[in-house]
Amino acid sequence: MTDVRRSLPAIGTLLEYGGVRQLLADAPRELVTSAVRRAVEQARHNPAAAPKDETGWVHAIATEVDAALERSLRPVINATGVVLHTNLGRAPLAMQALTAAQDVAAGYSTLEYDLAAGMRGSRHRHCAKLLAELTGAEDAFVVNNCAAALVLGLNTLADGRDVIISRGELVEIGGSFRVPSIMAKSGATLVEVGTTNRTHAADYQAAITPRTAAIVSVHRSNFAIEGFVSSVSPSALAPIAKAAGISLIHDFGSGLMLDLSAWGLKGEPTAADAVSAGSAVVLMSGDKLLGGPQSGIVLGTRAAVSAMRENPLARALRVDKLTLGALEATLELYRDPAVAVREVPILRMITATADAVAARAAALAARLTAAGIAATVVSTDATVGGGAFPTARIPSSAVVLTVANADSTDAALRAWRIPVVGRIADRRILLDVRTVPDAHDDLLVSAVTGALTR
Ligand SMILES: *Cc1c(COP(=O)(O)O)cnc(C)c1O
Repeated sequence: MTDVRRSLPAIGTLLEYGGVRQLLADAPRELVTSAVRRAVEQARHNPAAAPKDETGWVHAIATEVDAALERSLRPVINATGVVLHTNLGRAPLAMQALTAAQDVAAGYSTLEYDLAAGMRGSRHRHCAKLLAELTGAEDAFVVNNCAAALVLGLNTLADGRDVIISRGELVEIGGSFRVPSIMAKSGATLVEVGTTNRTHAADYQAAITPRTAAIVSVHRSNFAIEGFVSSVSPSALAPIAKAAGISLIHDFGSGLMLDLSAWGLKGEPTAADAVSAGSAVVLMSGDKLLGGPQSGIVLGTRAAVSAMRENPLARALRVDKLTLGALEATLELYRDPAVAVREVPILRMITATADAVAARAAALAARLTAAGIAATVVSTDATVGGGAFPTARIPSSAVVLTVANADSTDAALRAWRIPVVGRIADRRILLDVRTVPDAHDDLLVSAVTGALTR
């Protein structure tokens, strides 16, 4: 045994140190005691780095206490330039959505209560009228996410039967989740038709048998294929399904509610376009281009939607009151497209002019320079992310930090109290400003100066 190990202070002694007793003001005794034990354990493990004196021990124990108190789910500053960053929580919510969720969460609500009748109501009716009004669907309801909506749709309309899908639409939607694996869990049997690059109407028609319950059309939202390609649109599939007496299920994904072509984002159908194509159901995410909370939105015919609602599986996939409150308030903003573009954070980020983003980047760089940090500005391309507009590049600007070691600076930014997630390019740190809400400029400056001048 080395001298250091022999001379490690006893747990009881460490707990009596003034600095450690102060920690008890903010943390329960049990947690501080565990932190003391871990600090001693580390010193035993790595005697060379063991604290040398009381100040050293207090610091080591305080670091352990901080780590134990740190939340797992924490806000970060997204400076990646990817607007809908799935790893960073996709869409930030509009103020109106936050207020609605808070109002509903702080007390009791009409979640499953019909005020007029004075009796039990259904949570599935929330948002239904509003979604119908905004998209032209006959009926609508909300589940946990789009993947859940797909499983529920298939299980309701095609359990134990065949569903036809193009090989060009057997896609992976991220996090190693694949649409065909999700679909297989629904109880329906997939029948693949066509090839990766080309599928024709005749391929679908030839595959229809008495076992067929549905055709599934999966929107190619997160990739693009070019060249010798051909696919059959939902509006061309609808009459084929109708003639065969089967359902058309459209996994639409992105949830785009407004035409964004005025801002250079062209070629994507809106939810209303998808509904008018004539599918039995259109399924989409609430937290992608719609800019609301995580949810899966089902839009469709009265018969298909009510069958999905009545499926016992709907109970397992139901959303909570926070989601419904936030979603309803987000959807309300779409009654006036100008209001939506102004108030829905992801739409505000996507539609901000390149000049406005460049001006913010310049102002941020100037503030950092004044604080002694070498910061300049560079033009970048931001992306929509979240499996939407996969090839679109949105002109943007980034603050460039020229540092001695980009990897360690990047780690320091991520380790800050409010972590900053940027990217490294050419051994410099790029902080894309388009994805930083303008209200967070001060936060970004204080995080970067804090992390870099510590
Ligand atoms: C994103 C996406 C999904 C999954 O949506 P979640 O809401 O994340 O479950 C399914 N299908 C398509 C086409 C998508 O783009």
